[in-house]
Amino acid sequence: MAEKKKMALSTQIFIALVLAILAGIALTGHPDLATGYIKPFGTIFLNLIKWIVCPLVFFSIMAGVVSMRDIRKVGAIGGTTVLYYLCTTAFAVAIGLLFANVFKGIFPVLSTTDLSFEPSATSVNFMDTLVGLFPSNFIQPFVEANMLQVIVSSLFIGFALILVYGEKKDSDFAAVNVCNDICMKTMEMILRLSPVGVFCLLCPVVAENGPAVLGSLAKVLLVAYLCFAVHAVAVYSMTVKVLGRVSPLEFFKGMMPAMMLAFSSASSVGTLPLNLECAEKLGADREVASFVLPLGATINMDGTAIYQGVCSVFIASCFGISLTFSQMLTIVLTATLASIGTAGVPGAGMVMLAMVLQSVGLPVEGIALVAGVDRIFDMGRTVVNITGDASCAIVVSQLQRARESRRKS
Ligand code: ASP
Repeated sequence: MAEKKKMALSTQIFIALVLAILAGIALTGHPDLATGYIKPFGTIFLNLIKWIVCPLVFFSIMAGVVSMRDIRKVGAIGGTTVLYYLCTTAFAVAIGLLFANVFKGIFPVLSTTDLSFEPSATSVNFMDTLVGLFPSNFIQPFVEANMLQVIVSSLFIGFALILVYGEKKDSDFAAVNVCNDICMKTMEMILRLSPVGVFCLLCPVVAENGPAVLGSLAKVLLVAYLCFAVHAVAVYSMTVKVLGRVSPLEFFKGMMPAMMLAFSSASSVGTLPLNLECAEKLGADREVASFVLPLGATINMDGTAIYQGVCSVFIASCFGISLTFSQMLTIVLTATLASIGTAGVPGAGMVMLAMVLQSVGLPVEGIALVAGVDRIFDMGRTVVNITGDASCAIVVSQLQRARESRRKS
């Protein structure tokens, strides 16, 4: 019965996606109609997701931590997760840089005289970032939707719960599980609106960006989408097959509903509940998934990293600059680090691109070249971002199962 319901929702999302593209094309000449009357309903859908996402991440990570009942186990799973996230993200930037360099010749030479983009980003200061992880007020992380601080709060309280009640029975954690279940149920209710949300979010994007805008930037978009596909198919297929013992075909089929929602909402955190559902159906353990996925929605952004690699080379070549090998290494490093701490919401990756460009002395104004079509990049990179999170949940679950069976034998 549940399976039937799920199929119905994914079919609905798919139909909404197709209808949104058709309606968007039909409204290309009248984008005001789409942005004025259709987009607000998409915004309501996104607002509801943003409203529930902080408590959801807070209780979900805490429930994941307390269900492990052992701080060392949390450490082992956390360590594997962060290592997987860092390696795949660094690999993603490298793929982006490699493909963009190979296809550099096809990038159009654009006029760069009329750039007007005013970047607000400043360079990343490691110590400030470190201090910024720790909230000084209990409520503030929730009010500001500072996801890293929400995660840190959740880990502290989760550890405290284990230390206070760890030796006792499961029922001691009932309050956490009840709160987690309530948040999940609320998100499930919101997700029933996904087909409407998807339609209302995607239609204005198509209507606004119409074929004309796409034309001049089609090549860089194509290179980015090629990298997204290569990274997803090559890296995730391999990791889920070799380390997670799940067939790649089954993986991508099972991930389809979450991937479609990510594509249309351009938000990793918004896709989180559906991603949890898909990953669990594919064999990820609940305790692992409810820890790994909320963490990944905040710190793991492979698609965003690819976009930064591709756009750095694109912007450099538009300005007639050739990147050196050491500049490329710096891009790999900064793009990997910059992806940590940026919430999975639409448009976040573009701000991070400013930091990456600055780190190698590229003109930040170059962002203006790609800003017009950022949403189209964003839809693709979010799909890769959430697929990477789910692959990690499956891999870490399998590794953890193997670790436990080794310990028992
Ligand atoms: N929209 C992306 C996400 O939610 C972040 C980005 O802008 O790259 O994962």
